[in-house]
Amino acid sequence: MTQYIFTPPAVIGASIRGRAEAFPIQRIFCVGRNYEAHAKEMGVAVDREAPFYFTKAASDYVPSGATVAYPPGTKNYHYEMEFVVAIGKAGFRIAEADALSHVYGYACGLDMTRRDLQLQAREKQRPWDLGKDFEESAVLSEIVPAAEIGHPAKGKIELAVNGAVKQSSDLSLLIHSVPALIAHLSGYYHLLPGDLIYTGTPEGVGAVVAGDKITGLIEGVGTIALTVGAAE
Ligand code: MN
Repeated sequence: MTQYIFTPPAVIGASIRGRAEAFPIQRIFCVGRNYEAHAKEMGVAVDREAPFYFTKAASDYVPSGATVAYPPGTKNYHYEMEFVVAIGKAGFRIAEADALSHVYGYACGLDMTRRDLQLQAREKQRPWDLGKDFEESAVLSEIVPAAEIGHPAKGKIELAVNGAVKQSSDLSLLIHSVPALIAHLSGYYHLLPGDLIYTGTPEGVGAVVAGDKITGLIEGVGTIALTVGAAE
């Protein structure tokens, strides 16, 4: 057995509704601009031909219900409420018609964003990592197995800050559907069990500050919550 010079990091596990076992997170893919009205508020065009992605490290995961510190290096920390797909079966070049058979379940997610850093990167045509891939930026509810809830293609997706609704849309407004995303993404990666796909946020994104309580829901899937703490 391999010996390591220091203790290797633990596998990151997300909780599953009704199961004692956790869902081991492999990779986190995030889709950009997947709702027309959000692309419009960001001042960018949507691409109906093909989705695009950025990634977050599995170590960015934080469970729903947590309090996170206001992150370093930003003055414009944003929420993005998202419908998340949890892949349960490996696949490469998956046909759209077979795509849903690769889904283990679904969850509510928050793609927390350092918006100022993301926009600076966008302007300079640099990668988005500093704006998107940072510690505690991938908030996830418990995963609900598709075996229990099916494959939601419509239903309310909503987010509130301190009880005031900020984002309210419907899963039916996704530009690239879950089967289309799986088919497309699996043309570029061998999808693996444990991969997560954050499918993009609807309009109404905005900033939060220390003390704010974020709550979200997706009809037929579940709820999510996050409290913003003081900066470290
Ligand atoms: Mn997002």
